[in-house]
Amino acid sequence: MTDATGASGFGTDHLPYGVFSREGEAPRVGVRFGDQVLDLAAALGDEVFAAPSLNPFMARGRAAWGETRGRVRDLLAAGSAEHLVPLTEVRMHLPVEVADYVDYYCSLEHASNMGRMFRPQDEPLKPNWRHLPVGYHGRSGTIVVSGTPVVRPCGQRGAGVFGPSARLDIEAEVGFVIGTPSALGTPAGAFEEHVFGVTLVNDWSARDIQAWEYVPLGPYLGKSFATSISPWITPLEALEAARVAGPEQDPAPLDYLRRDTHWGLDLLLAVELNGEVVSRPPYRGMYWTADQMLAHMTVNGASLRTGDLFASGTVSGSGPGERGSLIELSWNGSEPLKLADGETRSFLEDGDTVTITATAPGPNGPISLGEVSGTIRPARNVTQRAQSMTER
Ligand code: CA
Repeated sequence: MTDATGASGFGTDHLPYGVFSREGEAPRVGVRFGDQVLDLAAALGDEVFAAPSLNPFMARGRAAWGETRGRVRDLLAAGSAEHLVPLTEVRMHLPVEVADYVDYYCSLEHASNMGRMFRPQDEPLKPNWRHLPVGYHGRSGTIVVSGTPVVRPCGQRGAGVFGPSARLDIEAEVGFVIGTPSALGTPAGAFEEHVFGVTLVNDWSARDIQAWEYVPLGPYLGKSFATSISPWITPLEALEAARVAGPEQDPAPLDYLRRDTHWGLDLLLAVELNGEVVSRPPYRGMYWTADQMLAHMTVNGASLRTGDLFASGTVSGSGPGERGSLIELSWNGSEPLKLADGETRSFLEDGDTVTITATAPGPNGPISLGEVSGTIRPARNVTQRAQSMTER
């Protein structure tokens, strides 16, 4: 019997979905159980799981999600090892064909820290911050699955200055995946009707490019070079025991942003830099909750598509060991992190690996969200330019 108790955080209480392939075979949908993956097309005899993404299944809607989860639990609880493949024998792929990507800015602590560093002469929070969850549309085409190397971006770092980012950073975030679409012109309905599940996100950020470009329209090339997500999508149903009330909000938000029920989530993230935990950001205190993000994203009549992803923005708590970005952890480079191996870091160096994990309460002990990891590769553009100069 394989870990039905969930000691690994991937027992029958969890059952996240992903897309996997065996050597020489096409990618297909599976469910993680311990250190194995259940081949769903084979186990359930349903061709929707033979697709290379979760989108066709997610588009079926909430009733189908619940029914499938029940069947998978029954199969695995019965102890059958049929159609289970060891994770060591598979490659994981991007689980979702990402439609649109929205990046929010929901942590009061993160927004305050960034305001203090980027605009020290002003109030840390802009006047709109407590009235709406601030967000922008990101680049869905450069969302990559965990394990994909991240090439250090080049760009403008100031007037007339071009080169590789010298302030490459992470953003530890929680992402929400849309299953059920909504109609154009109509705000979305209930959160649980539309949102299929949750995944961990690392929204890599080049702070020097960002600082120069972001006025007045917001982030652009400093963010769009890569955003990593976990290969595993935790279904919303697996997070029932993790639901908590969001923090009190002052002023009270407008009607369309009013919370009807608890969609705060008691997720505790951990950020590892080269294998050492450097931060443990708590998601549960995020000022704007995910139901409010969804309501805001569609209040103007913008429609949802299956595969849309919206992310929370950097998760930072109030303590120094709870910040979800290096710019906060090193306070803009003025207090470099001291690592156990004697090295220091303010921002990422080539070869650095960042891994984000998270745990959440489950009905019978904690569950572990699938990790998101990435390693920094040296910048390309400048090398190529240097080569072509030499060749000349
Ligand atoms: Ca972000």
